[in-house]
Amino acid sequence: MAITSGYSIDAYCDCEQCVTNIDPVGRWCRQEMTSAAGETYAECAALIRSYGWKLSRNKMHALAPGHKKPKSWGKL
Ligand SMILES: [Zn+2]
Repeated sequence: MAITSGYSIDAYCDCEQCVTNIDPVGRWCRQEMTSAAGETYAECAALIRSYGWKLSRNKMHALAPGHKKPKSWGKL
């Protein structure tokens, strides 16, 4: 789809590694990011979840597939 109307989300992984851009062995890494478009937030969120991402209920945080959830998040 070339044109979408409605809603779009850019999700940036919020794990410790992506936020600091340093992986556990000290190498620089890129923050994981994905985006989705749809008519509603729920539609976008469902699309992003279908890629294996996790989104927090308060819509404040996103987590890339296989990345480690920061403790400060509480329940997703
Ligand atoms: Zn991450």
